Amino acid sequence: SSSRRGVVHRPCSVMLLVNPHSGKGQALSLFTGHVQRMLNEAGVPHTLVITERQNHARELVREADLSQWGALVIMSGDGLLFEVVNGLMEREDWEEAIQTPLGILPGGSGNALAASIHHYSGAQPVSSEELLISCGFLLCKGLVSRMDLASVHLGSSPSNPTRLFSFLSLAWGFVADVDVESEKYRHVGAARFTMGTLVRLASLRVYKGRLAYLPVDEVDGEEDGQSPDSPRQNTAHLTFHNSHSLLVPLDQPVPSDWVVVPEEDFVLMLAMYQSHLAKDLYAAPDSTLDDGLIHLIYVRAGISRTALLRLFLAMEKGTHLANNSPHLVYTRVRALRLEPYSSKGVITVDGEVVEYGPVQAQVHGGIARLITR
Ligand code: ADP
Ligand code: MG
Repeated sequence: SSSRRGVVHRPCSVMLLVNPHSGKGQALSLFTGHVQRMLNEAGVPHTLVITERQNHARELVREADLSQWGALVIMSGDGLLFEVVNGLMEREDWEEAIQTPLGILPGGSGNALAASIHHYSGAQPVSSEELLISCGFLLCKGLVSRMDLASVHLGSSPSNPTRLFSFLSLAWGFVADVDVESEKYRHVGAARFTMGTLVRLASLRVYKGRLAYLPVDEVDGEEDGQSPDSPRQNTAHLTFHNSHSLLVPLDQPVPSDWVVVPEEDFVLMLAMYQSHLAKDLYAAPDSTLDDGLIHLIYVRAGISRTALLRLFLAMEKGTHLANNSPHLVYTRVRALRLEPYSSKGVITVDGEVVEYGPVQAQVHGGIARLITR
């Protein structure tokens, strides 16, 4: 138990998980330098837990006595929150466990969720340090909102797939390759994605596969456009338990109400449930925290390097969808399936590499809770 650390837990204390290796390896000093005093002054009791290895946080959260904790907050990149979300969903009491308020302080090189909640708060884009302070301030206020999660099925056994939960993105092709290759530029922090993009542009290639999705029907779509106070929001989590899965096993054809994309040559496929893919990549401008939508973007093969570069530059301002690129398709969906034709490649979920192969996902509106606003 954590008593070996000599910590006496006050009820409703925040468990603050720090990955000391995230970003430029400065998460702990960023925390003590910028956030700790803010939390103390706001009277937010917290217990620091420094992760010792990959999946440490996932295991801790899977076993933790959650009644002790008012919130689980991570100070890292998106990867550590991915561990926490999946640790909670792997518990027998996952329905209760996923109600635990989550929080994020950007300390990594990929801080997409932090950038998204900063954006939802109505603030203008800021530097990395200011983003941290902004998120620290939101944490002190402690207002909780509902957040969408997607369930993801993948792996070599179609009848018994690996199940993951995702709060941010599912990527294949150019974006996933950049995610992985840019790991070696992590010492430059958030700029790693820009560098990775430029390097990858030089070796632009085509990715083959079949893409299908369940479109959002018009009536649904209007409901989703309601104000945040709409009744739908309060009952959003119930739909997860009551509705049957939209996904059929990966070795069966997609249901007849799905759209199968006619093209099979792509440059990228990106499914987003939040607005930002990274601090300066405003990939899904329409997305809100709990709209219950997957914002699907794909780029067909045939796009020139210049046009693709222009698209990524426009993404900084979120104007890429208005660019009318004939190669870019944007659509709002409930579920999707991707079947890559090659046996090797990269798929990322929330920026983390997962097993390569057929993958499908479905969004669950508002089933998690996040400290935000
Ligand atoms: P970044 O944005 O810098 O990549 P992440 O939070 O995404 O930061 O963390 C990167 C990876 O490190 C994730 O896969 C995470 O699970 C893993 N990780 C977490 N804690 C540790 C640790 N103590 N040592 C090594 N890896 C860790
Ligand atoms: Mg990461």
